[in-house]
Amino acid sequence: MPTAVAGPEIERLIQLLARLPGLGPRSARRAALHLIKKRELLMAPLASALQTAMEKIEICKTCGNIDTQNPCTVCTDARRDQSIIVVVADVADLWALERAHAVNARYHVLGGTLSPLDGVGPQDLAIDALISRAHEPQVKELILALNATVDGQTTAHYITELLHEANVKVTRLAHGVPVGGELDYLDEGTLSAAIKQRTLF
Ligand SMILES: [Zn+2]
Repeated sequence: MPTAVAGPEIERLIQLLARLPGLGPRSARRAALHLIKKRELLMAPLASALQTAMEKIEICKTCGNIDTQNPCTVCTDARRDQSIIVVVADVADLWALERAHAVNARYHVLGGTLSPLDGVGPQDLAIDALISRAHEPQVKELILALNATVDGQTTAHYITELLHEANVKVTRLAHGVPVGGELDYLDEGTLSAAIKQRTLF
């Protein structure tokens, strides 16, 4: 076992920071040291922001988004197109689409994708809630913004089947050449999807 270089309080801080995604033990030590050096400027406001967020964060009862109000800011925003629901696997995907200003609609967070290998079935995801939202009269289109992976596409097919009866258009994201992408660097799957889904110039 390596010798501790600091007291248990600091070691605990390092251990907790090391559990964050993208931070290993080495960067956790650097982050902890940085926080300690910037105690007043950074550590104190961070501690208080963590505390406040922990107390106030809720999961939106309508869409599954994370926010400090319920229903969330997105659901209560009247300027959004009420006829479109963008279906995402995770809140991270919702945030990514919002950062890109990709669509001015409402969302539905599934909480993952179907994955028989990992034991994730329909009952583990917010699929029932999505189906009932899809039947609301103002909803005309569901955009399935799911990963282009086997699990993502399995989930998309499953949802599409369930919506056979509903009076909504079900669309999915285009697959193809990324913006700024060079053809020579693309894998065969992406290239053949791009050719199959070519559009009129
Ligand atoms: Zn919401």
